[in-house]
Amino acid sequence: MTMNLLDQILEHNEYFVENNLYEQYRTSRFPNKKLVVVSCMDTRLTELLPAAMGLKNGDSKIIKTAGAVVSHPFGSVMRSIMVAIYELGAQEICVVGHHDCGMTSIDPNHTLQKMRDRGISENTIDTLGYAGIDLRHWLKGISSLEESVLESARVIRQHPLIPADVRVHGLVIHPVTGRLEVLAGDYQLETDLA
Ligand SMILES: [Zn+2]
Repeated sequence: MTMNLLDQILEHNEYFVENNLYEQYRTSRFPNKKLVVVSCMDTRLTELLPAAMGLKNGDSKIIKTAGAVVSHPFGSVMRSIMVAIYELGAQEICVVGHHDCGMTSIDPNHTLQKMRDRGISENTIDTLGYAGIDLRHWLKGISSLEESVLESARVIRQHPLIPADVRVHGLVIHPVTGRLEVLAGDYQLETDLA
């Protein structure tokens, strides 16, 4: 019998804890670098992104979301940013999108079809539509990575609850080499507003 994934995880976990492998990760819950990184859930970035940015455990709050998109000014990403700033002392925010992002090729109609194929009824989809939930818009990907990163950075920078002394930057990372490119630093985002 092959072990299922959860059992594999739990088996590793027992070894990890019993051998004190956690010691090297010990830190506080306050970000040492007073930094928040908003980035994509892409699996290539899991270890590459912190390594390429020189971030160790404890250095930064890292918020992961598909496409590194801040889709709503009062959604869960913004709430996490608020907590990071006001409760945990963050002063700098980097939105870091990446080249070759899967969110640039998402077609919401295909996703809806896959839902139907997996047993979600047309009735359910219609009912959500009648309730005012625009599924196509909700599932929509991003058309331009650069524009999307800048837009998310602007949503944060222009948010009425973000204090003026917090710096916000928009960057893109290469998913293979880890090379960072600054699309707009805080100064440029401020200038955009003027
Ligand atoms: Zn991505």
